[in-house]
Amino acid sequence: MTTPALELSAVRKVYPGPTPVIALDGIDLVIRTGEAVAITGASGAGKSTLLGILGTLERPTSGAVRIAGTDVAALPDAKLSAVRAGRLGFVFQQFFLLDHLSVLDNVATGLLYRGLPARVRREHAAEALRGVGLAGRIGHRAGQLSGGERQRVAVARATVGRPAVLLADEPTGSLDSATGAGIVELLATLAGQDTTVVLITHDAGVAAAMRRQVRLRDGRIVSDTGTPA
Ligand code: ADP
Ligand code: MG
Repeated sequence: MTTPALELSAVRKVYPGPTPVIALDGIDLVIRTGEAVAITGASGAGKSTLLGILGTLERPTSGAVRIAGTDVAALPDAKLSAVRAGRLGFVFQQFFLLDHLSVLDNVATGLLYRGLPARVRREHAAEALRGVGLAGRIGHRAGQLSGGERQRVAVARATVGRPAVLLADEPTGSLDSATGAGIVELLATLAGQDTTVVLITHDAGVAAAMRRQVRLRDGRIVSDTGTPA
């Protein structure tokens, strides 16, 4: 058995407060390299919390998180940032582009912490933009693009460093359904060989585009289709 891309064991996340919120309540989940997984569930089910923990943006209250076999709970923040920058790519509902910058430079920022010269960053960015079908928009300012194009730029920025795992939280949430379907299709095609894709959505139609669906309710996994061998 190869080492899973992502592995959660007995993960709990409790947000403290006058009335503590149990956002995740005992999650066991193994995601293998190359899988395309949709995490589904109603609003408040714990999807974003789960994605934040998978992406090392949040630490669990208890339980273990392993990324490519490394127990991230044991890592100090600086090491955690290095794992995040080197192995993970993120796409969010809001595109978080710098509207005044060119499309090319928005994508090149995805490589800022790799110690590459600007020229090389731009070459990789151009290639990533070709991969998402935006070769013709490289010189446009990000603010000039349509929503679907902006999300493609965000996908290119997330993948330009060739992350092992791509995590997307409601990536179609700001798009009309036809445009969103194109983004989901793009994300699904990125999974394979070396790249694992985990997509969060409350939309069953979006989830169906991924090979595996994991459903959350009240912070627990209530169904998991698994992935056919
Ligand atoms: P989903 O993404 O499925 O809508 P979330 O993971 O965002 O669900 O939230 C799960 C639960 O945790 C919700 O009840 C939410 O209100 C609560 N929650 C999320 N983030 C925080 C936070 N930072 N502080 C307190 N409660 C939170
Ligand atoms: Mg959410």
